[in-house]
Amino acid sequence: MNQINIRVRNGIEIFLEAQYYFDPTELRTAGIHCISHAHFDHLPRKIRSATAICTDLTASIANVRLGKRIRPITCSQIRILNSGHVPGASMFLLENKRRILYTGDFSTRARFGLDAAIPIQTDAMIVEATYGDPRFIFPKTEEIVSEIKDWTEDSIKRGFSVTFFAQPFGKAQELMSILSDHQIFVHKSIDNLTRLIPNISFHYSMLSENLPFEPSIQIYPMRYLNSPHVRNWKDDRSKTAVVTGMAVDEVFGKIINVDRAFPLSDHADFEELINFIDRCNPSLVLTYHGRSRILSKAIKKILDIDSRPLIKNQTTLQDFL
Ligand SMILES: [Zn+2]
Repeated sequence: MNQINIRVRNGIEIFLEAQYYFDPTELRTAGIHCISHAHFDHLPRKIRSATAICTDLTASIANVRLGKRIRPITCSQIRILNSGHVPGASMFLLENKRRILYTGDFSTRARFGLDAAIPIQTDAMIVEATYGDPRFIFPKTEEIVSEIKDWTEDSIKRGFSVTFFAQPFGKAQELMSILSDHQIFVHKSIDNLTRLIPNISFHYSMLSENLPFEPSIQIYPMRYLNSPHVRNWKDDRSKTAVVTGMAVDEVFGKIINVDRAFPLSDHADFEELINFIDRCNPSLVLTYHGRSRILSKAIKKILDIDSRPLIKNQTTLQDFL
């Protein structure tokens, strides 16, 4: 019997012969730090050491977003695997007598030039549970893409401008790809990040102070959703929309006061999470973030695999075969 000693504090901490930190809030001088991808909620806030295990693209996006320099390194015990979430995003397989897979955010759908995450045999796994609830089942990506295109084109034809609010890294570029037949204007923070992503083939323009006169398509970071500067001119000539997996809940758009909410997600939905875990064939699954308790119960019930949620600041000392 092996023991896995895990704590949620500086990210997900695993204590074996060495200390491993996954998506830590602080890069420390001791220990091995792994950054799965460059969304803000997965990036360190304090940087005392300038190295981390991550892809080159995650490091370059992180450096722009944080204004600090992180240098990507490798470690013989950690295998970097594609997570299919956003460009450069990774899962990590820790191989130390037994295998432990840390998924980070992941998607099992190939989308917009990203390969899908591939299951891998592991003894234990730590799984993100953002959509780990049976009510989160996403429509097919092609269906959502068609809806976005149709609604946008219809709005423009009727003389409305269309403003999307989206994650500036990942989702914004997916939108730009979907609407690449049109002229698109993006906020400068989206432009800054898009420039770093290789193989971007679509054209776009940066928003300036003078908004385009004709009905047009604009993409702002999600944080501008309630910005008076952006929303004030959204009078009768403009339609607003968000793209997020949360939109699978039909009232979501009304709650945040937009005209449309499209359930385009870069995460696995509930069924995809269960299928992925099943195919990794672990004897233990620890869940964290989002619907961790619900997913953990479902894993035990549906897959008959030992599972429990990771609770912040509680140490989980768990035996596994
Ligand atoms: Zn993410």
